[in-house]
Amino acid sequence: MLLLHGGVGSDKSKLEYLNSKLNDYAKVGSASASPLENVVNAVVKMEDDEDFNAGTGSVMRIDGSIQMDAAVMIPGDFGSVIAIERVKNPILVARDVLEKSPHIMLASDGAVKFARTLGYEEYDPSTGKARSRLEKVLAELRSENAGISSNVAHFKKFVNSTQFVEGSCDTVGAVARMDGKFAAAVSTGGSSPMMRGRVGDSPVLGAGIYCGPKGAVVATGIGEEIAKNILCYRTYAKIGSKPLKEILKEEVDSFGQTLIGLIAVDKDDYAHYDNGSMAVGTNNLEQ
Ligand code: ASP
Repeated sequence: MLLLHGGVGSDKSKLEYLNSKLNDYAKVGSASASPLENVVNAVVKMEDDEDFNAGTGSVMRIDGSIQMDAAVMIPGDFGSVIAIERVKNPILVARDVLEKSPHIMLASDGAVKFARTLGYEEYDPSTGKARSRLEKVLAELRSENAGISSNVAHFKKFVNSTQFVEGSCDTVGAVARMDGKFAAAVSTGGSSPMMRGRVGDSPVLGAGIYCGPKGAVVATGIGEEIAKNILCYRTYAKIGSKPLKEILKEEVDSFGQTLIGLIAVDKDDYAHYDNGSMAVGTNNLEQ
């Protein structure tokens, strides 16, 4: 079983289209017998699709730069990259952190250097869509407060600048169960608006991702809130206490209006739940 999400807060009118892409990516991404391989392959597909805020198509930071976060986890092991730049597939570097480095997390220039040492080429993930999103939020940030979104208003309380950028949804994630083994993966260009150097929940163990012997959980939404609540570990810890869908609903509901989405698998079930619009896809294989 491979379950993917395409980020909470997507354009509702595009949901059907995004769901069908994710179903395709889940099928293509599930060719291996290894759950880790499968979540990584599926996330590569989503990173390469500029409809999603990960890899190519990642949103820009307030200075116009792109810094991406990605993580993979299997029971007992973890790898993540934080604010990595100029690589095509951050998720592959995160897996290499897990498999080929003595560490579990590598950040910014150290992560880029690690990637280059392994042969990852220089790559520009920026797109026209990311640039127009930037223009839109710049306009919103420069405007007076009436009609601006709550995350932009929150950002303005702390950052008084005329240089801003938007982003905010379409992060990608994957959880898998194969023959009783689990894996999780997540990749994002980040939430928005955000300062250069901002780190969300996605690359932080237990916050935006968790995987253990009972299952795997990945989150999407406002990273600061997810991290403050160690959401994925908290959700994981409840696995087995009640039906999986109920656990996810209880966790997402506890955030009130804050945009949150979760996907999870346990030993005999899988579930997703969100309070915004979140594209999902599965390979429909009960493994
Ligand atoms: N959670 C991600 C972050 O805050 C964004 C998202 O899921 O859309 O970086």
